[in-house]
Amino acid sequence: MSDLTMTIGGEAAAVEAVFDVLDPATNEVCGQAPDCTAEQLDAAMSAAAAAVPSWSSDAEARASALRRAGEAVEEAEEDLARILVSEQGKPLADAHLELKGAAGRLRFAADLRLQPEVLQDDEQALAVLHRRPLGVIAAISPWNAPLIISMAKVAPALAAGNTVVLKPSPYTPLSTLRLGELLRDVLPPGVLSVVSGRDGALGAAMTKHSVPRMVDFTGSIRTGKLVAESAAGDLKRVAVELGGNDPAIALQDADPGELAERVFWGAFANCGQVCVAIKRLYVPQDRYADWLDALRAVAEAVPVGAGMEEGVRLGPLNNAPQADHVERLVDDALDHGATAVAGGARLDRPGNFFAPTIIAGAADGVAIVDDEQFGPALPVIPYDSLDAAVRAANATHYGLGGSVWGSDAENAAEVAARLECGTSWVNTHKVLAAHIPFVGTKWSGYGGNSGIDGFHEFTASQVLYTQR
Ligand code: NAD
Repeated sequence: MSDLTMTIGGEAAAVEAVFDVLDPATNEVCGQAPDCTAEQLDAAMSAAAAAVPSWSSDAEARASALRRAGEAVEEAEEDLARILVSEQGKPLADAHLELKGAAGRLRFAADLRLQPEVLQDDEQALAVLHRRPLGVIAAISPWNAPLIISMAKVAPALAAGNTVVLKPSPYTPLSTLRLGELLRDVLPPGVLSVVSGRDGALGAAMTKHSVPRMVDFTGSIRTGKLVAESAAGDLKRVAVELGGNDPAIALQDADPGELAERVFWGAFANCGQVCVAIKRLYVPQDRYADWLDALRAVAEAVPVGAGMEEGVRLGPLNNAPQADHVERLVDDALDHGATAVAGGARLDRPGNFFAPTIIAGAADGVAIVDDEQFGPALPVIPYDSLDAAVRAANATHYGLGGSVWGSDAENAAEVAARLECGTSWVNTHKVLAAHIPFVGTKWSGYGGNSGIDGFHEFTASQVLYTQR
Protein backbone atom coordinates (compact mmCIF):
# COMPACT_ATOMS: atom_id res chain seq x y z
CA MET A 1 0.00 0.00 0.00
CA SER A 2 3.03 2.25 -0.29
CA ASP A 3 1.77 3.63 -3.59
CA LEU A 4 -1.17 5.51 -2.12
CA THR A 5 -1.09 9.20 -2.96
CA MET A 6 -2.61 12.36 -1.62
CA THR A 7 -5.33 13.96 -3.69
CA ILE A 8 -4.74 17.63 -4.40
CA GLY A 9 -6.74 19.53 -7.00
CA GLY A 10 -8.28 16.27 -8.23
CA GLU A 11 -4.93 14.67 -8.99
CA ALA A 12 -2.32 12.49 -7.36
CA ALA A 13 0.22 14.67 -5.56
CA ALA A 14 3.92 13.91 -5.93
CA VAL A 15 5.25 11.82 -3.05
CA GLU A 16 8.08 13.79 -1.48
CA ALA A 17 8.49 11.76 1.71
CA VAL A 18 6.60 8.95 3.41
CA PHE A 19 5.94 7.68 6.91
CA ASP A 20 5.17 4.16 8.09
CA VAL A 21 1.74 2.99 9.17
CA LEU A 22 1.58 0.03 11.57
CA ASP A 23 -0.83 -2.88 11.73
CA PRO A 24 -2.14 -2.77 15.34
CA ALA A 25 -2.46 -6.56 15.41
CA THR A 26 1.30 -6.99 14.92
CA ASN A 27 2.86 -3.53 15.14
CA GLU A 28 4.54 -4.32 11.84
CA VAL A 29 4.49 -1.90 8.94
CA CYS A 30 1.36 -2.38 6.84
CA GLY A 31 1.78 0.59 4.53
CA GLN A 32 3.26 4.00 3.99
CA ALA A 33 1.61 7.36 3.60
CA PRO A 34 2.89 10.56 2.00
CA ASP A 35 4.08 13.33 4.30
CA CYS A 36 2.50 16.53 3.02
CA THR A 37 4.85 19.47 2.49
CA ALA A 38 3.95 23.07 3.27
CA GLU A 39 3.80 23.81 -0.46
CA GLN A 40 1.46 20.87 -1.03
CA LEU A 41 -0.86 22.07 1.73
CA ASP A 42 -0.90 25.52 0.12
CA ALA A 43 -1.70 23.87 -3.23
CA ALA A 44 -4.58 21.90 -1.67
CA MET A 45 -5.98 25.03 -0.07
CA SER A 46 -5.67 27.04 -3.32
CA ALA A 47 -7.34 24.29 -5.33
CA ALA A 48 -10.14 24.10 -2.76
CA ALA A 49 -10.64 27.89 -2.90
CA ALA A 50 -10.62 27.88 -6.70
CA ALA A 51 -13.30 25.17 -6.76
CA VAL A 52 -15.76 27.06 -4.52
CA PRO A 53 -17.48 29.36 -7.08
CA SER A 54 -18.51 26.59 -9.44
CA TRP A 55 -19.23 23.94 -6.76
CA SER A 56 -21.36 26.32 -4.71
CA SER A 57 -23.41 27.51 -7.66
CA ASP A 58 -25.38 24.34 -8.50
CA ALA A 59 -27.15 22.40 -5.75
CA GLU A 60 -28.47 19.73 -8.11
CA ALA A 61 -25.01 19.03 -9.56
CA ARG A 62 -23.71 18.70 -6.00
CA ALA A 63 -26.49 16.30 -5.13
CA SER A 64 -25.78 13.99 -8.03
CA ALA A 65 -22.02 14.08 -7.38
CA LEU A 66 -22.62 13.16 -3.74
CA ARG A 67 -24.93 10.35 -4.78
CA ARG A 68 -22.24 9.02 -7.11
CA ALA A 69 -19.67 9.37 -4.33
CA GLY A 70 -21.88 7.19 -2.09
CA GLU A 71 -22.09 4.59 -4.85
CA ALA A 72 -18.32 4.69 -5.35
CA VAL A 73 -17.80 3.96 -1.65
CA GLU A 74 -20.29 1.10 -1.82
CA GLU A 75 -18.56 -0.39 -4.86
CA ALA A 76 -15.17 -0.21 -3.15
CA GLU A 77 -16.47 -1.45 0.21
CA GLU A 78 -14.43 -4.65 0.33
CA ASP A 79 -11.17 -2.96 -0.69
CA LEU A 80 -11.63 -0.08 1.74
CA ALA A 81 -12.73 -2.37 4.58
CA ARG A 82 -9.56 -4.46 4.27
CA ILE A 83 -7.32 -1.39 4.28
CA LEU A 84 -9.22 -0.10 7.31
CA VAL A 85 -8.71 -3.37 9.21
CA SER A 86 -5.01 -3.39 8.40
CA GLU A 87 -4.35 0.07 9.83
CA GLN A 88 -7.10 0.42 12.45
CA GLY A 89 -7.39 -3.10 13.81
CA LYS A 90 -11.18 -3.46 14.01
CA PRO A 91 -12.87 -6.72 12.97
CA LEU A 92 -13.66 -6.93 9.26
CA ALA A 93 -17.43 -7.01 9.91
CA ASP A 94 -17.15 -3.74 11.85
CA ALA A 95 -15.08 -2.23 9.04
CA HIS A 96 -17.87 -3.11 6.62
CA LEU A 97 -20.39 -1.42 8.92
CA GLU A 98 -18.20 1.67 9.01
CA LEU A 99 -18.10 1.75 5.21
CA LYS A 100 -21.86 1.37 4.97
CA GLY A 101 -22.19 4.28 7.38
CA ALA A 102 -19.77 6.38 5.32
CA ALA A 103 -21.73 5.72 2.12
CA GLY A 104 -24.94 6.47 4.03
CA ARG A 105 -23.61 9.88 5.09
CA LEU A 106 -22.94 10.74 1.44
CA ARG A 107 -26.41 9.57 0.37
CA PHE A 108 -28.09 11.48 3.18
CA ALA A 109 -26.19 14.64 2.27
CA ALA A 110 -27.23 14.31 -1.38
CA ASP A 111 -30.81 14.97 -0.27
CA LEU A 112 -30.00 18.04 1.81
CA ARG A 113 -30.94 21.47 0.43
CA LEU A 114 -30.42 24.89 1.91
CA GLN A 115 -33.87 26.43 2.21
CA PRO A 116 -34.51 30.17 2.53
CA GLU A 117 -36.57 31.04 5.60
CA VAL A 118 -39.07 33.89 5.50
CA LEU A 119 -38.73 35.77 8.78
CA GLN A 120 -41.08 38.60 8.05
CA ASP A 121 -43.46 39.26 5.20
CA ASP A 122 -45.82 42.17 5.89
CA GLU A 123 -46.56 45.74 4.87
CA GLN A 124 -43.32 46.90 6.50
CA ALA A 125 -40.74 44.52 5.01
CA LEU A 126 -39.77 41.21 3.50
CA ALA A 127 -36.98 39.60 5.53
CA VAL A 128 -35.54 36.30 4.32
CA LEU A 129 -32.81 34.28 5.95
CA HIS A 130 -30.47 32.57 3.48
CA ARG A 131 -27.68 30.18 4.36
CA ARG A 132 -24.52 30.54 2.31
CA PRO A 133 -21.53 28.21 2.14
CA LEU A 134 -18.51 29.34 4.11
CA GLY A 135 -15.87 28.50 1.46
CA VAL A 136 -13.08 26.07 2.28
CA ILE A 137 -13.42 23.73 5.26
CA ALA A 138 -10.43 22.10 6.94
CA ALA A 139 -11.52 18.68 8.23
CA ILE A 140 -9.36 16.76 10.71
CA SER A 141 -10.18 13.21 11.82
CA PRO A 142 -9.08 10.79 14.55
CA TRP A 143 -8.02 7.14 14.21
CA ASN A 144 -10.89 5.25 15.84
CA ALA A 145 -13.36 5.39 12.95
CA PRO A 146 -11.57 7.34 10.23
CA LEU A 147 -13.92 6.85 7.30
CA ILE A 148 -17.30 7.36 8.94
CA ILE A 149 -16.04 10.35 10.92
CA SER A 150 -14.45 11.87 7.82
CA MET A 151 -17.57 11.39 5.71
CA ALA A 152 -19.74 12.78 8.51
CA LYS A 153 -17.80 16.02 7.99
CA VAL A 154 -17.18 15.96 4.26
CA ALA A 155 -20.69 15.02 3.09
CA PRO A 156 -22.71 17.85 4.69
CA ALA A 157 -19.89 20.36 4.16
CA LEU A 158 -19.89 19.61 0.43
CA ALA A 159 -23.69 19.48 0.25
CA ALA A 160 -23.80 23.04 1.60
CA GLY A 161 -21.56 24.20 -1.27
CA ASN A 162 -18.22 24.27 0.52
CA THR A 163 -15.05 22.52 -0.58
CA VAL A 164 -12.93 20.46 1.83
CA VAL A 165 -9.31 19.69 2.62
CA LEU A 166 -9.37 16.51 4.69
CA LYS A 167 -6.62 15.15 6.93
CA PRO A 168 -6.83 11.70 8.55
CA SER A 169 -4.85 10.68 11.63
CA PRO A 170 -1.24 9.55 11.06
CA TYR A 171 -2.26 6.21 12.61
CA THR A 172 -4.95 5.55 9.98
CA PRO A 173 -4.26 7.55 6.82
CA LEU A 174 -4.39 4.73 4.27
CA SER A 175 -8.13 4.12 3.92
CA THR A 176 -8.84 7.85 3.67
CA LEU A 177 -6.10 8.33 1.06
CA ARG A 178 -7.65 5.46 -0.92
CA LEU A 179 -11.07 7.05 -0.62
CA GLY A 180 -9.62 10.32 -1.92
CA GLU A 181 -8.24 8.44 -4.93
CA LEU A 182 -11.60 6.84 -5.63
CA LEU A 183 -13.43 10.13 -5.53
CA ARG A 184 -11.05 11.86 -7.97
CA ASP A 185 -13.24 10.73 -10.85
CA VAL A 186 -16.47 11.56 -9.04
CA LEU A 187 -15.98 15.05 -7.63
CA PRO A 188 -14.70 18.05 -9.62
CA PRO A 189 -11.02 18.95 -9.04
CA GLY A 190 -10.37 20.73 -5.76
CA VAL A 191 -13.73 19.90 -4.21
CA LEU A 192 -12.19 17.28 -1.92
CA SER A 193 -8.46 17.14 -1.30
CA VAL A 194 -6.94 14.53 1.04
CA VAL A 195 -3.59 15.22 2.67
CA SER A 196 -1.63 13.19 5.22
CA GLY A 197 1.18 13.98 7.61
CA ARG A 198 3.38 12.07 10.02
CA ASP A 199 2.35 14.03 13.15
CA GLY A 200 0.12 16.81 14.44
CA ALA A 201 2.09 19.52 12.60
CA LEU A 202 -0.03 19.19 9.46
CA GLY A 203 -3.27 19.59 11.43
CA ALA A 204 -1.80 22.61 13.19
CA ALA A 205 -0.81 24.11 9.82
CA MET A 206 -4.36 23.57 8.54
CA THR A 207 -5.99 25.31 11.50
CA LYS A 208 -3.61 28.28 11.12
CA HIS A 209 -3.88 28.47 7.34
CA SER A 210 -5.37 31.66 5.92
CA VAL A 211 -7.66 29.97 3.36
CA PRO A 212 -10.19 27.84 5.32
CA ARG A 213 -13.07 29.63 6.97
CA MET A 214 -13.91 26.73 9.25
CA VAL A 215 -12.16 23.84 10.96
CA ASP A 216 -14.23 20.76 11.65
CA PHE A 217 -12.14 18.77 14.12
CA THR A 218 -12.76 15.45 15.83
CA GLY A 219 -10.26 14.22 18.38
CA SER A 220 -9.09 14.66 21.93
CA ILE A 221 -9.96 17.54 24.25
CA ARG A 222 -6.30 18.46 24.51
CA THR A 223 -5.92 18.91 20.74
CA GLY A 224 -9.41 20.44 20.44
CA LYS A 225 -8.36 23.27 22.72
CA LEU A 226 -5.25 23.89 20.57
CA VAL A 227 -7.43 23.93 17.46
CA ALA A 228 -9.87 26.44 18.95
CA GLU A 229 -6.97 28.63 20.07
CA SER A 230 -5.22 28.50 16.72
CA ALA A 231 -8.40 29.09 14.69
CA ALA A 232 -9.08 32.19 16.78
CA GLY A 233 -6.14 33.88 15.00
CA ASP A 234 -8.35 34.83 12.07
CA LEU A 235 -11.68 33.96 13.68
CA LYS A 236 -12.30 30.81 11.69
CA ARG A 237 -15.41 29.03 12.70
CA VAL A 238 -14.69 25.85 14.68
CA ALA A 239 -16.59 22.64 15.34
CA VAL A 240 -14.77 20.56 17.94
CA GLU A 241 -16.14 17.08 18.54
CA LEU A 242 -14.06 15.83 21.43
CA GLY A 243 -13.64 13.14 24.02
CA GLY A 244 -16.27 11.76 26.33
CA ASN A 245 -16.52 9.90 29.61
CA ASP A 246 -20.08 8.73 29.19
CA PRO A 247 -21.86 7.48 32.28
CA ALA A 248 -24.51 4.76 32.09
CA ILE A 249 -26.88 4.40 35.04
CA ALA A 250 -28.68 1.12 35.59
CA LEU A 251 -31.87 1.67 37.57
CA GLN A 252 -33.21 -0.68 40.21
CA ASP A 253 -35.56 -2.29 37.66
CA ALA A 254 -32.78 -2.94 35.10
CA ASP A 255 -32.18 -6.67 34.88
CA PRO A 256 -28.45 -7.47 34.57
CA GLY A 257 -29.15 -10.92 33.10
CA GLU A 258 -31.18 -9.37 30.33
CA LEU A 259 -29.15 -6.20 29.72
CA ALA A 260 -25.51 -7.06 30.40
CA GLU A 261 -24.75 -7.98 26.80
CA ARG A 262 -26.16 -4.70 25.44
CA VAL A 263 -24.43 -2.65 28.11
CA PHE A 264 -21.19 -4.51 27.41
CA TRP A 265 -21.27 -3.65 23.70
CA GLY A 266 -22.20 -0.07 24.54
CA ALA A 267 -18.83 0.03 26.29
CA PHE A 268 -16.59 -2.33 24.32
CA ALA A 269 -17.51 -1.99 20.63
CA ASN A 270 -14.46 -1.03 18.57
CA CYS A 271 -12.40 -2.10 21.58
CA GLY A 272 -13.84 0.77 23.61
CA GLN A 273 -12.41 3.29 21.15
CA VAL A 274 -15.64 5.15 20.56
CA CYS A 275 -16.14 8.73 21.71
CA VAL A 276 -19.62 7.86 22.97
CA ALA A 277 -18.87 4.47 24.45
CA ILE A 278 -20.09 3.80 27.99
CA LYS A 279 -16.99 4.63 30.03
CA ARG A 280 -18.35 4.19 33.56
CA LEU A 281 -21.35 2.21 34.73
CA TYR A 282 -23.32 3.07 37.90
CA VAL A 283 -25.46 0.27 39.32
CA PRO A 284 -27.58 -0.05 42.52
CA GLN A 285 -25.54 -1.28 45.49
CA ASP A 286 -27.84 -4.26 46.09
CA ARG A 287 -27.45 -5.41 42.45
CA TYR A 288 -23.71 -4.82 42.27
CA ALA A 289 -22.71 -8.50 42.45
CA ASP A 290 -25.32 -9.47 39.83
CA TRP A 291 -24.09 -6.83 37.40
CA LEU A 292 -20.44 -7.82 37.88
CA ASP A 293 -21.27 -11.51 37.34
CA ALA A 294 -23.30 -10.84 34.22
CA LEU A 295 -20.69 -8.52 32.69
CA ARG A 296 -17.85 -10.89 33.52
CA ALA A 297 -19.66 -13.71 31.72
CA VAL A 298 -20.00 -11.59 28.58
CA ALA A 299 -16.42 -10.28 28.75
CA GLU A 300 -14.92 -13.73 29.13
CA ALA A 301 -16.86 -15.13 26.17
CA VAL A 302 -15.85 -12.46 23.64
CA PRO A 303 -13.55 -13.67 20.87
CA VAL A 304 -10.58 -11.29 20.73
CA GLY A 305 -8.12 -11.36 17.85
CA ALA A 306 -6.81 -9.74 14.70
CA GLY A 307 -9.49 -8.05 12.65
CA MET A 308 -9.12 -10.44 9.72
CA GLU A 309 -9.49 -13.57 11.89
CA GLU A 310 -12.78 -15.41 11.47
CA GLY A 311 -15.37 -14.78 14.18
CA VAL A 312 -13.42 -12.09 16.03
CA ARG A 313 -15.58 -9.48 17.79
CA LEU A 314 -12.86 -7.36 19.43
CA GLY A 315 -9.57 -6.37 17.85
CA PRO A 316 -6.46 -4.77 19.31
CA LEU A 317 -6.18 -1.17 20.45
CA ASN A 318 -5.18 0.98 17.53
CA ASN A 319 -1.75 2.11 18.67
CA ALA A 320 0.91 1.49 21.28
CA PRO A 321 0.50 4.81 23.15
CA GLN A 322 -3.22 4.08 23.50
CA ALA A 323 -2.51 0.57 24.82
CA ASP A 324 -0.04 2.09 27.30
CA HIS A 325 -2.69 4.59 28.39
CA VAL A 326 -5.29 1.88 29.04
CA GLU A 327 -2.74 -0.26 30.87
CA ARG A 328 -1.75 2.70 33.05
CA LEU A 329 -5.36 3.40 34.01
CA VAL A 330 -6.09 -0.24 34.82
CA ASP A 331 -2.86 -0.63 36.85
CA ASP A 332 -3.61 2.59 38.70
CA ALA A 333 -7.12 1.35 39.57
CA LEU A 334 -5.68 -1.94 40.85
CA ASP A 335 -3.11 0.03 42.88
CA HIS A 336 -6.02 1.92 44.44
CA GLY A 337 -7.56 -1.32 45.67
CA ALA A 338 -9.86 -2.12 42.75
CA THR A 339 -10.12 -5.64 41.29
CA ALA A 340 -10.41 -6.86 37.73
CA VAL A 341 -13.32 -9.29 37.73
CA ALA A 342 -12.49 -9.97 34.06
CA GLY A 343 -9.29 -9.27 32.16
CA GLY A 344 -6.99 -6.70 33.74
CA ALA A 345 -3.92 -6.97 31.51
CA ARG A 346 -2.53 -7.09 28.00
CA LEU A 347 -2.82 -10.33 26.07
CA ASP A 348 0.37 -12.26 25.66
CA ARG A 349 0.75 -11.86 21.91
CA PRO A 350 2.26 -9.30 19.54
CA GLY A 351 0.27 -6.16 18.81
CA ASN A 352 -1.79 -3.90 21.06
CA PHE A 353 -4.17 -6.49 22.51
CA PHE A 354 -5.78 -5.91 25.89
CA ALA A 355 -8.19 -8.34 27.54
CA PRO A 356 -11.78 -7.09 27.92
CA THR A 357 -11.67 -5.79 31.47
CA ILE A 358 -14.38 -5.24 34.07
CA ILE A 359 -13.19 -3.26 37.09
CA ALA A 360 -14.91 -3.46 40.48
CA GLY A 361 -14.14 -1.25 43.47
CA ALA A 362 -12.86 1.83 41.64
CA ALA A 363 -14.75 4.82 42.99
CA ASP A 364 -15.13 8.33 41.66
CA GLY A 365 -11.77 10.03 42.11
CA VAL A 366 -9.81 7.13 40.62
CA ALA A 367 -8.43 7.98 37.17
CA ILE A 368 -10.19 5.16 35.29
CA VAL A 369 -13.51 6.59 36.48
CA ASP A 370 -12.66 10.28 36.12
CA ASP A 371 -10.77 10.20 32.80
CA GLU A 372 -11.51 8.87 29.35
CA GLN A 373 -9.97 5.40 28.97
CA PHE A 374 -10.93 4.96 25.28
CA GLY A 375 -10.23 1.26 25.57
CA PRO A 376 -11.63 -2.11 26.66
CA ALA A 377 -11.82 -1.52 30.42
CA LEU A 378 -15.07 -0.60 32.17
CA PRO A 379 -15.31 0.51 35.81
CA VAL A 380 -18.58 -0.53 37.48
CA ILE A 381 -19.50 1.66 40.43
CA PRO A 382 -22.24 0.94 42.99
CA TYR A 383 -24.61 3.69 44.13
CA ASP A 384 -26.78 4.02 47.23
CA SER A 385 -29.24 6.58 45.93
CA LEU A 386 -30.24 7.55 42.43
CA ASP A 387 -29.61 11.22 43.19
CA ALA A 388 -26.05 10.37 44.15
CA ALA A 389 -25.59 8.45 40.90
CA VAL A 390 -26.87 11.37 38.81
CA ARG A 391 -24.64 13.76 40.77
CA ALA A 392 -21.60 11.54 40.14
CA ALA A 393 -22.49 11.13 36.47
CA ASN A 394 -22.58 14.91 36.04
CA ALA A 395 -19.53 15.75 38.19
CA THR A 396 -17.18 15.96 35.21
CA HIS A 397 -15.87 18.29 32.51
CA TYR A 398 -17.06 15.79 29.91
CA GLY A 399 -20.53 16.06 28.38
CA LEU A 400 -20.77 13.91 25.28
CA GLY A 401 -23.31 11.15 25.94
CA GLY A 402 -24.96 9.22 28.72
CA SER A 403 -27.61 6.56 29.18
CA VAL A 404 -30.13 5.23 31.65
CA TRP A 405 -31.29 1.63 31.70
CA GLY A 406 -34.52 0.29 33.23
CA SER A 407 -37.68 -1.61 32.45
CA ASP A 408 -39.91 1.45 32.90
CA ALA A 409 -38.76 3.45 29.87
CA GLU A 410 -40.70 6.58 30.83
CA ASN A 411 -39.14 6.68 34.25
CA ALA A 412 -35.69 6.00 32.74
CA ALA A 413 -36.21 8.87 30.28
CA GLU A 414 -36.92 11.24 33.18
CA VAL A 415 -33.59 10.29 34.73
CA ALA A 416 -31.87 10.50 31.32
CA ALA A 417 -33.05 14.09 30.96
CA ARG A 418 -31.09 14.96 34.12
CA LEU A 419 -27.76 13.95 32.58
CA GLU A 420 -25.61 16.86 31.40
CA CYS A 421 -24.66 15.66 27.94
CA GLY A 422 -25.38 16.12 24.25
CA THR A 423 -27.18 12.82 23.77
CA SER A 424 -28.91 10.91 26.53
CA TRP A 425 -30.09 7.44 25.56
CA VAL A 426 -32.60 5.12 27.23
CA ASN A 427 -31.92 1.38 27.15
CA THR A 428 -29.25 1.78 24.52
CA HIS A 429 -26.07 3.77 24.01
CA LYS A 430 -23.97 5.28 21.21
CA VAL A 431 -26.65 5.09 18.52
CA LEU A 432 -25.68 7.78 16.01
CA ALA A 433 -27.35 8.57 12.70
CA ALA A 434 -26.95 10.99 9.81
CA HIS A 435 -30.35 12.60 10.48
CA ILE A 436 -29.89 13.06 14.26
CA PRO A 437 -27.80 15.99 15.51
CA PHE A 438 -24.82 14.87 17.53
CA VAL A 439 -23.06 17.47 19.60
CA GLY A 440 -21.29 17.59 22.95
CA THR A 441 -21.57 19.95 25.88
CA LYS A 442 -18.92 21.17 28.33
CA TRP A 443 -15.39 20.06 27.34
CA SER A 444 -16.73 17.45 24.92
CA GLY A 445 -16.96 20.28 22.45
CA TYR A 446 -19.35 22.32 20.39
CA GLY A 447 -20.58 22.26 16.84
CA GLY A 448 -21.52 19.04 15.10
CA ASN A 449 -22.17 17.81 11.62
CA SER A 450 -25.21 15.51 11.79
CA GLY A 451 -28.83 16.31 11.09
CA ILE A 452 -30.11 19.59 9.72
CA ASP A 453 -28.44 21.45 12.59
CA GLY A 454 -25.08 19.95 11.60
CA PHE A 455 -25.68 20.80 7.93
CA HIS A 456 -26.32 24.42 8.88
CA GLU A 457 -23.05 24.53 10.84
CA PHE A 458 -21.28 24.64 7.46
CA THR A 459 -23.07 27.83 6.43
CA ALA A 460 -23.13 31.52 7.22
CA SER A 461 -26.47 33.23 7.61
CA GLN A 462 -27.32 36.11 5.35
CA VAL A 463 -30.51 38.10 5.81
CA LEU A 464 -32.02 39.87 2.81
CA TYR A 465 -34.19 42.64 4.15
CA THR A 466 -36.35 44.61 1.72
CA GLN A 467 -38.17 47.67 3.01
CA ARG A 468 -41.72 48.05 1.73
P1 NAD B 1 -6.00 13.53 18.68
O1 NAD B 1 -6.56 14.80 19.24
O2 NAD B 1 -4.70 13.06 19.13
O3 NAD B 1 -5.90 13.62 17.08
C1 NAD B 1 -7.01 13.94 16.27
C2 NAD B 1 -6.50 14.54 14.97
O4 NAD B 1 -5.88 15.80 15.23
C3 NAD B 1 -5.46 13.70 14.25
O5 NAD B 1 -5.70 13.77 12.86
C4 NAD B 1 -4.16 14.41 14.61
O6 NAD B 1 -3.13 14.22 13.68
C5 NAD B 1 -4.63 15.86 14.60
N1 NAD B 1 -3.78 16.79 15.35
C6 NAD B 1 -2.82 16.53 16.26
N2 NAD B 1 -2.30 17.68 16.74
C7 NAD B 1 -2.96 18.69 16.14
C8 NAD B 1 -2.92 20.10 16.23
N3 NAD B 1 -2.07 20.72 17.05
N4 NAD B 1 -3.76 20.83 15.49
C9 NAD B 1 -4.65 20.23 14.67
N5 NAD B 1 -4.75 18.89 14.53
C10 NAD B 1 -3.91 18.12 15.25
O7 NAD B 1 -7.16 12.47 18.91
P2 NAD B 1 -7.09 10.90 18.60
O8 NAD B 1 -6.22 10.28 19.63
O9 NAD B 1 -6.81 10.70 17.16
O10 NAD B 1 -8.60 10.46 18.84
C11 NAD B 1 -9.10 10.01 20.06
C12 NAD B 1 -9.95 11.07 20.70
O11 NAD B 1 -10.95 11.51 19.80
C13 NAD B 1 -10.69 10.55 21.92
O12 NAD B 1 -10.63 11.51 22.94
C14 NAD B 1 -12.13 10.41 21.41
O13 NAD B 1 -13.10 10.48 22.41
C15 NAD B 1 -12.21 11.56 20.47
N6 NAD B 1 -13.30 11.36 19.52
C16 NAD B 1 -14.39 12.21 19.58
C17 NAD B 1 -15.45 12.01 18.71
C18 NAD B 1 -16.66 12.92 18.73
O14 NAD B 1 -17.41 12.91 17.77
N7 NAD B 1 -16.90 13.69 19.78
C19 NAD B 1 -15.42 10.96 17.79
C20 NAD B 1 -14.30 10.13 17.78
C21 NAD B 1 -13.24 10.34 18.65
